[in-house]
Amino acid sequence: MNHLAYEIGPRVAGTENERKAEQYVKSQFEKIGLETSVQKFSYGSSPSSYDSSNVIGFKQGKSSEQIIVGAHYDSVSAGKGVDDNASGVGVLLEAAEALKNVETPYSIVFIAFGAEEVGLKGSNYYASQMKEDEIKQTIGMINLDSLAVGDNMYVYGNEGEKGFIRNLALEIAREKNLNVGTNPGNNIEFPKGTTGDWSDHAPFKALGIPYGYLEATNWEIGDQDGYTQTVKHGGVWHTENDTLEFIEREFPGRIKEHLSSFSVVLTELLKSLNGTNTPKG
Ligand SMILES: [Zn+2]
Repeated sequence: MNHLAYEIGPRVAGTENERKAEQYVKSQFEKIGLETSVQKFSYGSSPSSYDSSNVIGFKQGKSSEQIIVGAHYDSVSAGKGVDDNASGVGVLLEAAEALKNVETPYSIVFIAFGAEEVGLKGSNYYASQMKEDEIKQTIGMINLDSLAVGDNMYVYGNEGEKGFIRNLALEIAREKNLNVGTNPGNNIEFPKGTTGDWSDHAPFKALGIPYGYLEATNWEIGDQDGYTQTVKHGGVWHTENDTLEFIEREFPGRIKEHLSSFSVVLTELLKSLNGTNTPKG
C-alpha cells in the first residue's frame, strides 16, 4: 500500500504513474507465484484516447470454477489515493500472499483494475472479454474498494440467494470477532445488505455473476447513501486528505485495524467458499 501511495504517488488513469503502479502490482503477483499477465485496453476516442491495463494473477484451485477478486490500482490526482484504493490493492496482495501455499476449493483470479476512477474502464473491459464458458465458471466476484478511512467496515452482496458471499463473510466476521457489518438499508434506494453500482463489481453483476464487496464508510450519515465516509471529516476519498499522514493523525490505528480485519475476512472467505455454500455448487 505504501509503495503505491508514496513511491509512486497519485496514479491517474492513462498516465505514466498508472503504468508504474501496473508494473509494481505485476512484480508483486509474480513474487507470490501467481500466473501473471497484463491485459491492455484503450478507452476514449482519438484524439483523447488513453491506454490502461488490468493486471491479472491466477491461482489454480481444486476446482476449475473460479472466484474473481478485484481492486482498482488507479487513483484521482488529489491526495495519494491511500484509502481509494491503495488500501484495496494492499488487502488483495495480502490475501494472495496468505493463500500462497493453500489449496483453495475454487481457482482464484486476482485482478488489479486500471482506470476505475474514469468510469470503471478496466473492469468493464475485463467483463466484456469474458467468454460464455468463463462466465459460467465464475462463482462470484469480490470487489475491494476504499477500506481504510471510513468509520465502519462493511461487506455487501446481491439481494436474495445470490447474496451468499456477503452472508458467509458476515458469519466469518462474527466467528472471528471482527467488527464488519453490512449496509443497514436505511435508504430505500440501497436495500439492506446491498450497495450501488459505482465500483468494479458492477460489470460482473450485470453479467449475472454474484458479487461481494468490502468497503469502509458510514451509511448512517450524510444522504445515507454510503458516500459520506466519516462523522469527523465527511468524505476523504477524492480529496487532498486521502494521505497516510492525514488518516493516521485524525484516526489513529484505524488503517491497521481495518486492513487486518478485511484481510482476515477475505482470506477466510476464499478458503471456505466451496461447492456446499454456493448456490451453483
Ligand atoms: Zn475507488
